[in-house]
Amino acid sequence: MAWTSFTLDEESPNQFEELPCPRCGEFLVIHAPDPSTPERMLGVCAECHSWYLLHCSECKMMRLPDAPGALARKPGRKGSGSPPR
Ligand SMILES: [Zn+2]
Repeated sequence: MAWTSFTLDEESPNQFEELPCPRCGEFLVIHAPDPSTPERMLGVCAECHSWYLLHCSECKMMRLPDAPGALARKPGRKGSGSPPR
């Protein structure tokens, strides 16, 4: 996982709404899931469905692993292996 730097247009009131996806160039849809940490946001690309963790105070972003692929590789649990105590 590598952090990628990005730049924000300080003069734009909607600077985070003009952040392009590093993969395809489409503008990201920005979410702020945790109000207590406003510098950490989530950018979702509607075009290539990449998710990015944005660290806004440092202007860095990191692409998150693709959830469907990660889940597909997960070994399935069938039945009850060892019963919980
Ligand atoms: Zn994209």
